[in-house]
Amino acid sequence: MTSKLTIANWKMNGNLEQIRNLLSQLFQDTAQIAHSREKVVICPPYCYQSFVIGRLAEFGWQLGGQDCSRYTSGAYTGEISAEMLKVIGCRYVLVGHSERRQHHHESNALVRQKMQQALKAGLTPVLCIGETLQEREAGLTLKIIENQLYESMAEVNTEQEFVVAYEPVWAIGTGRVAGIQDITQVHQHIKSLLVQSNPLFESIPVLYGGSVNGQNAREILSLGEVDGVLVGGASLKADEFTTIIAAAAQTNEKINL
Ligand code: PEP
Repeated sequence: MTSKLTIANWKMNGNLEQIRNLLSQLFQDTAQIAHSREKVVICPPYCYQSFVIGRLAEFGWQLGGQDCSRYTSGAYTGEISAEMLKVIGCRYVLVGHSERRQHHHESNALVRQKMQQALKAGLTPVLCIGETLQEREAGLTLKIIENQLYESMAEVNTEQEFVVAYEPVWAIGTGRVAGIQDITQVHQHIKSLLVQSNPLFESIPVLYGGSVNGQNAREILSLGEVDGVLVGGASLKADEFTTIIAAAAQTNEKINL
C-alpha cells in the first residue's frame, strides 16, 4: 500500500487575504504532525497559483489545477493548457470533475481529451467519476462508473501516472457522505476495472470525494480500498483540513512502518 493522498479543491473560492491566512494557519497547525508533508495537494483557482506555489514549496506540498483545456494551444479564449499548468509548477490536475460535467456539459469523450493533454504535459491527471442520485436509486451505480471510467480514461503508457477519484455527485457539497459499504464496493469495482483494463493499473490510487470532513475522514481513510481523499468545502477551513491531514498522516505512519 502506498501513502494516502489528500487533495484540496478550493473551487472558485477565496481572495488573496483569505488564502494567505488559510495557508499560514494550515502550515502552523500541521507543522508538528508527523507525515503531514506527505502527499498533500492544493488546487487553487488559476489566478492564485503563482502565489500558492511560492508558499507550498517550503512546506513540501504539491500544486494542482482544477481543470485544463483539451487543446494544446491556440485561439481558445479563457482556456488554460496542461502545459501552462506544468510550467507554473503544477504536478496534478483534476479532469472530469462533476461540476465541470454538470455546468459545462463535459462528456466522457471531452474528459478523455483533457486527460490525454495532462499526460502529454507530464502532469498526473486525477480522473473524477461518480453517479448521480437518480442513477444510484435506479441501481445503475456500477454500470455508470464502468462507462465513465472506460470512456473518459485516456491511453496511458507505462511511465505515466494517473489517479482516479470516486465522487458520487449527490455527496459533493451536500453534507451527505456515501456509506462505508458503498465506498468499499465502488472502490473495489473501480480497482478491478482498472486491472482488467491493464494489469499494471493495480497500483493506481483511487480516492474518495464527497463531503469529507474532520469527523468522517479517519474512518474513510482507514479503508484499504481508499488511497486518499479529494476534499472541497472542508479544505477551506483550516481546522477541518488540519484534522483530515492528521487522519491521512496517521494512516501513512502505519503504512510506512
Ligand atoms: C469536490 O469538490 O471534489 C468535493 C468533494 O467537494 P465537497 O468536499 O465539498 O463535497
